[in-house]
Amino acid sequence: MDPQPEPVYYICGDCGMEIPLKPNDVIQCRECGYRILYKKRTRRTCIFNSSLAVEKYVNLVIGMIVISLHHDAQCCY
Ligand SMILES: [Zn+2]
Repeated sequence: MDPQPEPVYYICGDCGMEIPLKPNDVIQCRECGYRILYKKRTRRTCIFNSSLAVEKYVNLVIGMIVISLHHDAQCCY
C-alpha cells in the first residue's frame, strides 16, 4: 500500500476556482489560465493560524512564479 500524495488545493487569484495540484503540476488555473494561485488550508485544526499561513504560502507561490518568469526571460536572450 503506497501512500498516495494528497493533492494540495489552491484558489485561483483571478476567478476563484479551486484547483487541486500535485507537487509536479504547473501552478496555473485550469479554468482561466491565471498563474497566481493561493494555497488553501484544508485541515480544520489549522483554521486558527490560517491567515498567517496563507500570507507565507502566497509569498512562496508568487516567489516561484517570479523565478520562473525570470527564467523564461533569460531563455529569450
Ligand atoms: Zn482562474
